[in-house]
Amino acid sequence: MTSYVNAHAPLEACGLLAGRGLRVEKIFYVRNQAQSPVRYVMDPLEQLHALEWIDDNGMDLLGIFHSHPTGPETVSPTDITEAAYAVTYVILARMDDEWRARGYWIENDNYREVTLQITP
Ligand SMILES: [Zn+2]
Repeated sequence: MTSYVNAHAPLEACGLLAGRGLRVEKIFYVRNQAQSPVRYVMDPLEQLHALEWIDDNGMDLLGIFHSHPTGPETVSPTDITEAAYAVTYVILARMDDEWRARGYWIENDNYREVTLQITP
């Protein structure tokens, strides 16, 4: 994921995380239709195909990730407004040339951080 978002910087990059239970087993990289350094809009067709694959393979959508190539590590007001799914929102933020991932649960125009466990 880090190399993907890094390759797309300074534009934001985005995608979906799928798996079973709390464990992510599959990452979908989805084109950012907005092609913007401060916004992301997932290509609707790519997103649909990914959601179909997830369904066909008995997995659940667990998360949505996108990058903040110039920070911050937290969700933006737009991220909160546009959060449409009850999933973990993962922000990959580049701070001091280093990418860091943090997870957030967004609900009712509010958010709280959730702990991400990254396994090799
Ligand atoms: Zn954002």
